[in-house]
Amino acid sequence: MFPVEKIREDFPILSREVNGHPLVYLDNAATSQKPKVVIDSIVDYYSNYNANIHRGVHSLSQEATDAYEQARKTIQNHFHIKESKEVIFTAGTTHGINIVASGFSALLNPHDEIIVSALEHHSNIVPWQMLCERTGAVLKVIPMNEQGVLLMDVYEQLLSEKTKLVFVNHISNALGIINPISEIIDKAHKAGAAVLIDGAQSCSHIQPDLQELDVDFYVTSAHKMCGPTGVGMLYGKLEWLEKLPPYQGGGEMIKEVSFEKTTYADLPHKFEAGTPNISGGIAFGTAINYLHSVGFDKIAAYEKELLDYATEELLKIEELKIYGTGAEKTSVISFNIGTIHPYDIGTIVDKLGIAVRTGHHCAQPIMDYFKIPGTVRASFSFYNTMEEVDKLVSALKRAQLMLS
Ligand SMILES: *Cc1c(COP(=O)(O)O)cnc(C)c1O
Repeated sequence: MFPVEKIREDFPILSREVNGHPLVYLDNAATSQKPKVVIDSIVDYYSNYNANIHRGVHSLSQEATDAYEQARKTIQNHFHIKESKEVIFTAGTTHGINIVASGFSALLNPHDEIIVSALEHHSNIVPWQMLCERTGAVLKVIPMNEQGVLLMDVYEQLLSEKTKLVFVNHISNALGIINPISEIIDKAHKAGAAVLIDGAQSCSHIQPDLQELDVDFYVTSAHKMCGPTGVGMLYGKLEWLEKLPPYQGGGEMIKEVSFEKTTYADLPHKFEAGTPNISGGIAFGTAINYLHSVGFDKIAAYEKELLDYATEELLKIEELKIYGTGAEKTSVISFNIGTIHPYDIGTIVDKLGIAVRTGHHCAQPIMDYFKIPGTVRASFSFYNTMEEVDKLVSALKRAQLMLS
């Protein structure tokens, strides 16, 4: 049995009430809650060894640098990355994507092509549109079917020698569908294109092996995996990181500066201009260690139980329709009830202490495909319980009675 009650004790926020009811937090796809060890590691840094890193000879600076670089190693090991200099600390997934998109401005020619999937988050669409505007490259989209599954045969047809980059999320935040990234990467490589995977939604559910995937770039955010906001990771294969120009100029990213010429610092510092989010980076490492103490296999198995039970119970509600019904999915359920507006449902269940997300989930093209304004999204994490699923179902029934 998965020790969910014991795990819940690690998360201070889970014992609070909202609108007079115990909090039922089902918005994990937007951000995860933080265990006490993660919160404590931030407090510990500011209480005991706050100092700027890399530049100081004094002891505090050394301690802070050691802790920050240790976190980089933890991230490296977790994602099975070959070299620690391939791990770039970022402000999050969006920032990581923009580093790559901006770098490719220098590498693309007019009529080159970039392929994205129909299942993308806005943060994975807009930077590519901006890149296409700057370079004259053309954006192509892998379509999906009614189940929210990408059409791989169309993808193959889109690939050609013009394709320079393919960008796909590992798991769609709007529908929870797991994309066949290994196949996507292999096919892109055969066509000579590089691949960036957005791991923001998958990182809390699946531990990827980036060397085995042979992916060129991979981005994620700490806050989706029990870490703090404002910090994340960009992985790039060494040869790519060496090829890409830096994103921002500033301190830390230079080797030598004169008014005639500046030479850039070695990796990873070339992409880490300025003072970083030091406590955030350290706490990112703590969060990964925490997740390993629970166990990724155990997390996956338990979340599958939650998903199956919630799917079964939700489908008992009359007129409830789930979007994203592909076989490969994580514990994210996007749905509507009849013609009731998702926002109205979200408002009523909030009065009962239940946090779900409503709207387009930063993925308007998906909503356009289904011709709906948005959905209600319940996203479950390993600290959610079967009783919380029951609470959601009964709250939805109540909302349905009030609204129809
Ligand atoms: C959350 C999310 C993002 C954006 O992450 P930020 O931390 O806001 O930069 C991008 N893609 C997916 C799939 C996400 O779930």
